[in-house]
Parts: sequence; structure tokens; C-alpha cells
Amino acid sequence: MNNEYDYIITGAGCAGLSLLMRLLQQPSLQYKKILVIDNSAKTKNDRTWCFWEKGKGLFEDIVYHQWQQLSFQSQQYHSSFSILPYTYKLIKGIDFYKYVMEYAAAFPNVHFVTNKVLSIHSVNNKALVFTATTIYQSTFVFNSILFHSIEDTFKLKQHFKGWIIKTEKNVFDNTVATFMDFTVSQHNGTAFMYVLPFSANEALVEFTMFTDAVLEQNDYDAELYKYIQDKLGITDFSVSHTEFGIIPMTTYNFKKHDGAIINIGTAGGDTKASSGYTFQFIQKRTNEIVELLIQNKYPSSGRGWQQRKFAFYDTVLLSVLHHNKLIAAKIFSQLFKKNKPQKILQFLDNETDIVNDIRIISSLPSKLSFISALKEIFH
Ligand SMILES: Cc1cc2nc3c(=O)[nH]c(=O)nc-3n(C[C@H](O)[C@H](O)[C@H](O)COP(=O)(O)OP(=O)(O)OC[C@H]3O[C@@H](n4cnc5c(N)ncnc54)[C@H](O)[C@@H]3O)c2cc1C
Repeated sequence: MNNEYDYIITGAGCAGLSLLMRLLQQPSLQYKKILVIDNSAKTKNDRTWCFWEKGKGLFEDIVYHQWQQLSFQSQQYHSSFSILPYTYKLIKGIDFYKYVMEYAAAFPNVHFVTNKVLSIHSVNNKALVFTATTIYQSTFVFNSILFHSIEDTFKLKQHFKGWIIKTEKNVFDNTVATFMDFTVSQHNGTAFMYVLPFSANEALVEFTMFTDAVLEQNDYDAELYKYIQDKLGITDFSVSHTEFGIIPMTTYNFKKHDGAIINIGTAGGDTKASSGYTFQFIQKRTNEIVELLIQNKYPSSGRGWQQRKFAFYDTVLLSVLHHNKLIAAKIFSQLFKKNKPQKILQFLDNETDIVNDIRIISSLPSKLSFISALKEIFH
């Protein structure tokens, strides 16, 4: 049957294409018959991914810029520090889509279809994928499409607007990225800026909020203008690219797998609830899937103790942020003031052990707020 595949990947975004790239790197898997379906042709630069990692990653060739030095700013604390052996990296969405698709083009066993997936089912150890015109079948479907709304399970959203700006004068130091600048108004809730300079006269400046409601586009623009002019002291600039995004900050229990369906990416719970960072969690998950496939094992494991522990911390932090018991500026100021940056990144990666967790959590202000958040969660 023509519509039968070894693997089907539904959704050719970050998770789907990361998995494809990893499958194609493995001699024992690279000639499997693979179908990739997405309703978009992935020809737009619809997002940029920032993440930190040690050494070189699978997508090193398309890293647009990287920084070993970060800075943190708030009314309470200001610091610039090295994050070595980590490096903070930026990849443009369009470079990523092109890179993986060009790589896959050398494999005649990989087929791409541009179509809307209507539903997926696991039936008798087989996965069935339905589009309006065709039913596809495979041993496993690796799915990154969210088929149901999760809107009612979360209140807090991470919403942001970024501009890539070009300036007349050389104003940036492209060796230091501003990871978080909380010196912007916190009047309407948690808000901060990123400044990621690519050269002396080009940078991505992004305004981010963690609040229940998104703003009007004009409001983001006003914040960006104000910051670029008042804080960065730049009056002469042009905007070459705009990015807008909303990431749900939710501890919703995404199903990782269901029979022949393996959920990946945001749909598989790979977005960290309290930070929105997903790229590296996707890399870890897709790597694990490929390792299990190589060993002929079921390609998904349950949530381990470490994952459950960090999901719990995320729930507490979201509750604190949502009820404004502590504003994020204070939490992050204490975090950066009292801990080594490398330990903070390891903690945000869900990789610290319990001893370091306790060290980090006890460095945060007003433990009472955390205790009241805990009470609320258990209540
Ligand atoms: C603007 C933006 C910037 C972000 N920046 C960062 C960052 O800097 N660092 C970080 O770690 N995370 C970031 N994130 C969060 C996260 O990394 C991304 O959302 C990431 O793309 C998630 O990967 P994914 O594969 O789960 O989803 P996606 O990349 O969104 O892929 C899902 C795919 O499914 C397709 N699809 C959806 N419905 C259907 C359907 N019915 N039929 C067929 N195809 C369908 C879509 O077209 C899409 O290609 C950002 C998110 C956004 C929105």
C-alpha cells in the first residue's frame, strides 16, 4: 500500500524537523520510509530560537550568533557574567527549516506533504493519520500538532514582540547579550527586555511579559520605542524584522504517548512552563526517541522523578507569578545575585540535583510566599 510508512511525522516545526534530522543521522534508521506532513510549507521566518548549550549541537552550522557573556539588569541588581562552558545561541526559524529540508532532500525515502492533518489514531498497534483526501498508516506517528485547545487550563501567558533593528552608528557590543532587563515598568505585570546584538549596529530587541492578557500591538511598539530611545540611547534606527509570539505558561499534563502515537514538542509537554524555553527540551526528547528506536524499544518513556520534580517547581513558580505574591524582577534578581550563572542555567534546564535545587530555592526572597503558594497548590 502506497500510503504506508515506517514513521509519520505530523507537524514540520521545531520538534518534527529536529526528530527527522536525528533519524537521518542514524545508519540503522536513515533509510526508513518516512512521511512528514504540515499544513504550512515552512518558507517563512516565523520565529527565532534562543537557547544555551555546552559545546557544539546538532544545528551548529546554522547558529546565527552566539554569546558567552550575558547581562542581567533590574532596579535591585546589575551584573554581566560569563556562562562558559555554556554558550547562548540564536537560530533563525527559516534557516532551520531550510537546513533540515535540504538535508532530507538527499533521501528519496523521505516524503513531504503539505496538507492539514485532521486527526490521528492508534489502532491495533498501527498509527492512522487522516487528511481530507488521504489516510496514511505507519508503525509510529510522531506528532507535534495540538488537536485540542488548552486555553482553559492556563491563565498566564508569555507574550512578546521583538524587532531586529539596524542603527546608523556603531552602538552594540556583540559579545554580550542582555538575557533579562527588568528595569522597564512592572506596572502591568512582569515585563522585561532582551537585547541580542549581532554586530555593532544590528540587534534583536524583544519586549516580553508574563501576564494573563496580551497587549494591543501598539503597546508593544511603544515599549520597544521607549526602551530603544531612553535606555539604549538610539534615535536613528530602522526595523528590518518583527517577531510576535504567545507561549502558554501551563503545567497542563500533556500526554507523551498513546499506543502508536508519540507526542513531541509543545504538544508532548516539552515547553518549560515557567520559562517558555522549548528548543533544548525538544533536542533532549528527540535524541531519546532515536536512541530507543535504535534499540528496537518503544520510543517514549514515562515522566521520571526528575521531570515530575521540576514540573512541581514550575507549578509553584507559576502560582507565585500569577498571584503576584512576588514579582519576577525580585525573584530573578535574587537568583542571579546569589547563584552561579551556570547553576541557574542548569536549574532552568531541569538538570540540577536536589542539593542544588535546595540551594537555589533557598536563595530566593521571602520563602513565605513560596510556602503560601505550596499551600494553595495542595489545597
Ligand atoms: C515566536 C516564537 C518564538 C519562540 N522563541 C523561542 C526561543 O527563543 N527559545 C525556545 O526555546 N523556545 C521558543 N519558543 C517556543 C518553542 O520553542 C516554539 O514554539 C517551537 O517552535 C515549538 O516546537 P513545536 O514543534 O512543538 O511546534 P511548532 O514549531 O509550532 O511546530 C508545529 C507544526 O505543526 C504544524 N501544524 C499545526 N497544525 C497542523 C495541522 N492541523 N495539520 C498540519 N500541520 C499542522 C504547524 O504548521 C507547525 O509547523 C518560541 C515560540 C514562538 C511562538
